[in-house]
Amino acid sequence: MIPGGVDSPVRAFGSVGGAPRFIASAQGARVTDSEGHSLVDLVCSWGPMLLGHAHPAVVEAVQEAAARGLSFGAPTETETLLAEEIRRRVPAAQRVRFVSTGTEATMTAVRLARGATGRDLVVKFAGCYHGHSDGLLAEAGSGVATGGLPGSAGVPAPIAAQTVVLPYNDVAALEECFLARGSSIAAVICEGAPANMGVVPPRDGFNEAIRRITEAHGALMILDEVLTGFRVDPAGWWGLESRGGTSVGSGTAPTMLHGHNLDVPGHPGTPRWVPDLFTFGKVVGGGMPLAAIGGRSDVMELLAPLGPVYQAGTLSGNPLATAAGLTTLRLADDAVCARVDEAATTVASILSEALDREGVPHSVQRAGSLFSLAFGPEAAAHSVLDYAQAKAQEVWRYPAFFHALLDGGIAAPPSVFEAWFLSAAHGPEEFDRIALAAPSAARAAAQA
Ligand code: PMP
Repeated sequence: MIPGGVDSPVRAFGSVGGAPRFIASAQGARVTDSEGHSLVDLVCSWGPMLLGHAHPAVVEAVQEAAARGLSFGAPTETETLLAEEIRRRVPAAQRVRFVSTGTEATMTAVRLARGATGRDLVVKFAGCYHGHSDGLLAEAGSGVATGGLPGSAGVPAPIAAQTVVLPYNDVAALEECFLARGSSIAAVICEGAPANMGVVPPRDGFNEAIRRITEAHGALMILDEVLTGFRVDPAGWWGLESRGGTSVGSGTAPTMLHGHNLDVPGHPGTPRWVPDLFTFGKVVGGGMPLAAIGGRSDVMELLAPLGPVYQAGTLSGNPLATAAGLTTLRLADDAVCARVDEAATTVASILSEALDREGVPHSVQRAGSLFSLAFGPEAAAHSVLDYAQAKAQEVWRYPAFFHALLDGGIAAPPSVFEAWFLSAAHGPEEFDRIALAAPSAARAAAQA
């Protein structure tokens, strides 16, 4: 009935083989399949479930909202409160517009950048995934990487030609591209830290270099925080770099953007770089269909009805989704992010130590609380820094590793090119179960 049996290709076990489990329910750090098996969930709905599944406060907020009506097609107080909560965390999101999916958010950000600059070209990085809009599928990560596809059929060549794809973490390539075509480039779009070709941390200063180069050429910088936003830090990847939670390069520190103070309350660090536009998704909706575009007010106000850039949505800012998002963000404080970070450290080291014991060369790819494993001596020698290196790893070790974990009751992401997601609900019981399953998984990877 349903092509491939799934509504989103990443759910299929395309690269690991076998059939995906049907999930009947989920609670905390566990999902239960339709045959009643309880699995430790390391996918967390691909990111949204930062607090764990069916958090009582989030469920209650959604139930209360549902009782008041499912959709009005008119403004609500909750969406304004959520927009304010986003701006409190990320002050450069001076204006926020809600949509229903990350794809819509990035598609709209690109349209806005084109509308603001009057230019057509968009630069993206190979292995980054920004949703499935026509122009952003070239050398995309996530399911496109898992399927080994260069892009997608059905994208007209003239549209694909408007996207320039560059290697990630390569400042020289970016500089060269801007020297050659800078006056035609509307925007550079990048993930805060890529997590759709496996996790690939930005080199020190890479995001800052994107900011410097785009600014010098009058192009916009779109930071896609659909996956990293509100997960790696209460203020997302940008927040993490701003407060020095991850290494950042040197540079001057812009604390003002168009007259607005960008000091982040509760963030000791000063932002060294600020994108023009952000895209958010996943955690912002707490598991409901919700995403957002945020950014400079002068750019955001080009959106209809104030400006000439059209964007709309019947269910945009849906009251159930904004209730789930607002409740999630109010609970997702520093302590929650720290707990998720610690859980990631614990799980990554359990897996890595098991692989070491079996002599399987690998690297733990880490960006904030996101991690993935890359296999092979090359990855082990120097961790993966771009898509070419990600594809060159010993990908064939992953299916055996994945299935042995699944047999041991652990649901890992069904592709080596996806990040592993933890939640604040993951604790010692889950770690013990992972530790029990890890040795045979490592053995399976060694023998693959
Ligand atoms: N951007 C990034 C960085 C993502 O990881 C994703 C989805 N994994 C998207 C955009 C697209 O979001 P959605 O699936 O909600 O359309």
